[in-house]
Amino acid sequence: MSEEVFPAGELMKGKRGLIMGVANRNSIAWGIARQLAAQGAELCFSYQGEELERRVRPLVESLPCEPFMVSADVTSDADMDAAFAAIEKKWGGMDFLVHAIAFAGKEELQGSFVDKTTREGFRRAMEISAFSFVDAGRRAWPLMNNGGSMVTLTYLGAERVVPSYNVMGVAKAALEASTRYMARDLGPKGIRVNAISAGPVRTLAMAGISGGRALMKTGREWSMMKEDTRMEGIAGAALYLLSDLGHSCTGETLHVDAGFHAVAVPDFADEE
Ligand code: NAP
Repeated sequence: MSEEVFPAGELMKGKRGLIMGVANRNSIAWGIARQLAAQGAELCFSYQGEELERRVRPLVESLPCEPFMVSADVTSDADMDAAFAAIEKKWGGMDFLVHAIAFAGKEELQGSFVDKTTREGFRRAMEISAFSFVDAGRRAWPLMNNGGSMVTLTYLGAERVVPSYNVMGVAKAALEASTRYMARDLGPKGIRVNAISAGPVRTLAMAGISGGRALMKTGREWSMMKEDTRMEGIAGAALYLLSDLGHSCTGETLHVDAGFHAVAVPDFADEE
């Protein structure tokens, strides 16, 4: 994975925000955080559990800003209450939110969607992967005193069928619809809400999907650009949406996948 960060600048100077979903240095949330920090943002990171804190703290402490960390399992109201109370206490307000969290059981990310999806698996995928954005947004907006911007991460499996993505595709469809409803509610308050639909990137979450390697290969071969989706592209899109560059852009699902989403048929030799 590329470690590239765009040249340092001040696009995020004076802006403070919460990054949810860094598990390690390959996480999309980490790629975004590095880009935001290089542009002068002040960051808070949420992590799930002590093990994660041990892994994430050294990364976070390598950033040029002075980030702080809060514990937040998104399935716990008590955790979420405490995390946002800590942010309010430390900063008094915030300007942006990055939600890069998803979960579905491994057994549900393979085979037949109709046969493998259980009541509990469906509920859990929806709660962690879709509702958690609504919940975080509901807690974040009252702290956005000068307007703000929220971004979540989604995938093409929300719009079309992707083998093995199964219940996660259904949860991502709910996440994208939630993004639009949130954008409508928060628009008059000067808060924009958008989703980035990223092409496949090698991360822990990706490793949980059966056939993830084939998904990456197909992404490369079918995409308009004939290349993998690059972290810089995803982080650059987040920077656009979270900074003032993104003025007037809300309720959008922005595809960053080397053009894969717009291709209907793979290239074939022209026989005419
Ligand atoms: P990742 O590094 O594994 O990040 C997923 C994060 O979600 C982890 O930090 C994970 O923490 C967290 N999480 C799961 N359950 C949680 C809970 N109950 N409370 C708090 N955090 C929880 O994988 P990633 O690929 O960067 O995923 C980030 C986002 O991008 C996800 O929404 C994913 O669907 C989306 N996305 C990924 C790709 C891709 O190809 N990688 C493409 C499009 C969209 P734990 O490690 O503790 O579970």
